Amino acid sequence: MPDIIQLLPDAVANQIAAGEVVQRPASAVKELLENAVDAGATEIKLIVKDAGKTLIQVIDDGCGMSDTDARLSFERHATSKIRKAEELFQIRTKGFRGEALASIAAIAHVEMKSRMRENELGTKIQIAGSEVSSQEPCAAPCGTSISIKNLFYNVPARRNFLKSDSVEMRHIIEEFERVALAHPDVGFTVHHNNAELFNIKSSPLRQRIVNMFGSRYNERLVPVREETAIVSVMGFIGKPEFAKKTRGEQYFFVNDRYIKNSYLNHAVTQAFDELVSRGSHPSYFLYLKVDPSTIDVNIHPTKTEIKFTEERSIYAIIHSAVRNSLGKYNIAPSLDFDQ
Ligand code: ADP
Ligand code: MG
Repeated sequence: MPDIIQLLPDAVANQIAAGEVVQRPASAVKELLENAVDAGATEIKLIVKDAGKTLIQVIDDGCGMSDTDARLSFERHATSKIRKAEELFQIRTKGFRGEALASIAAIAHVEMKSRMRENELGTKIQIAGSEVSSQEPCAAPCGTSISIKNLFYNVPARRNFLKSDSVEMRHIIEEFERVALAHPDVGFTVHHNNAELFNIKSSPLRQRIVNMFGSRYNERLVPVREETAIVSVMGFIGKPEFAKKTRGEQYFFVNDRYIKNSYLNHAVTQAFDELVSRGSHPSYFLYLKVDPSTIDVNIHPTKTEIKFTEERSIYAIIHSAVRNSLGKYNIAPSLDFDQ
C-alpha cells in the first residue's frame, strides 16, 4: 500500500486554526485590541463598518514592527511574546500563541501599516488567503494600523452564519468593554459606521467604569481590596440594591485578562447571599493578581477560561473580601471609602 499522509499547506492549516480563533467579527476585534495592548499602546482606536463584516480597523501608538516582523507576524506560531516552553508558565502578555494574525489573514483581506519609533519610514503590507500580495515602505505614524476587510470572504458557511448587525455589534462591544476595563490606563475610541460609540481617556478604574456604564455607577460602586500571599483582589462590587434581573456587569480579570469562571462567580454571589433577592444578579468588577506560574491560560485558544492551582483558596479569599466590603458598606452606607 502506498503512503497517503501529507502535511497540509500552510494556508489550509491556518484556515483550520482560524475556525477556532475567529468565530465572528468580535473575535477578530478581541485579538487586534489585545495585540495593541501588548504593544504598549497608550491610545487605541477601533473603527468598525457593518458590524465588522466590511471593516475592522485597529490603530495603536504602540511599539510598531520592523519590515521583517511585519511579514513574520502573519506566520503561524510566530510570536515575540514567548521563546521557550518554560515561559508558558510566566505569561504576562495577552497573546503568546502566535496564531491570531495568521488565522485572520487566512480568512480575510488584511492591510497593515506599522512603524517603529526609531525608523523614519514604516512598512505597508497586504495579505489575503495567507499570501502576502505586496509589501512596501510607507510614511506612517509610530505604531500599527491594521485593517481587516471582508471577513470570511472564503468561508461561506461562517459568513452566512453571522447574525444581524445589531447582534454582531453587541458581541464586538462586549469584547471591547472587557479589554477597556482590563486596561483603564489606556485611552480608547470606538467608531461604528461613522458614529462615535466611545471616547474614553486613560483614568483610574472607578472613573473608567463610570465612563463606560454611566454616571449613575458613581454611587453604586463599593470598593473591594484584599491582599494575601496567594492572590490579591481589588476592584468594585455594585451595591446590593442595584442588582439586576439579567447577568449584566459581572467581570473577573486575572492578571489583566478577562476570564469566565462559574466557580468564582459563585463565591461572589454567595457572599451577597440574602442581600439580593432570588433571581437578581449583583454587579462586580474584580481584579485578581496571581503568580502566573499558578495558572494555566493555555486551555482554550481564546484564553477566557483558565485553570488555577489554588482554586479553593481563591474562592474563600474572594468570598471573604466581598463579605468585608458589604459589611463596611452596611455599617456606613453613606461612607465613600475610596481607594
Ligand atoms: P501573539 O499575540 O500570540 O504573539 P499574533 O498573531 O496576535 O500572536 O501576533 C503575532 C506577533 O505580531 C506578536 O507576537 C507581535 O510581535 C506582533 N504584533 C501583532 N500586533 C501588533 C501590534 N499591534 N503592534 C506591534 N506588534 C504586533
Ligand atoms: Mg495576539
